Amino acid sequence: MDYYSTPINRLIEEFARLPGIGAKSAQRLAFHILNLPPEQVEQLTSAIKNARENVRYCKQCYTLTDQELCPICANPDRDHSTIMVVENTRDLAAYEKTAKYEGVYHVLHGAISPMLGIGPDDIRLKELMTRLAGPVKEVIIATNSSLEGETTAMYLSRLIKPTGIRVSRIASGVPVGGDLEYIDEVTLLRALEGRVDL
Ligand code: ZN
Repeated sequence: MDYYSTPINRLIEEFARLPGIGAKSAQRLAFHILNLPPEQVEQLTSAIKNARENVRYCKQCYTLTDQELCPICANPDRDHSTIMVVENTRDLAAYEKTAKYEGVYHVLHGAISPMLGIGPDDIRLKELMTRLAGPVKEVIIATNSSLEGETTAMYLSRLIKPTGIRVSRIASGVPVGGDLEYIDEVTLLRALEGRVDL
């Protein structure tokens, strides 16, 4: 990498730190940027800065939003007594794309993983339990079918069951280890409709 000048190397290094970007892609992106007109570079950098500065957590479901309440939590037409628990905002977006789910969500921002040292206190679990003090009828656990997702689902059901609120788990038509966001809408809907009580 010493063939390039320092600014180019720095740019390549920054890209290489992003998820899913290997050394080759990082170089390709860096040279692509260098060939862009200055206005376009400005648009890109300001979009990044703007998103980072203005996006925050919804105070109810903890999804990423630019409002105090996200559009889903703020919508009176949604069924606020049904809460679907997902691992991240991308999973929420996957279910929203089906346009069939009428309840609201809770975004954990992760899953319990003893191996990675991620415990219940490291994800938004306490916040979910606080919400359950309200008029909630059902909690649908839609964490991934990975080991971490299943561990989280078990933990949650044990925590929620004593409250008398119905707890269900989406059907396992979802491939094991599969990230929800990569699964097509039909499979997602089938998983939701075929959910089983825990
Ligand atoms: Zn929300």
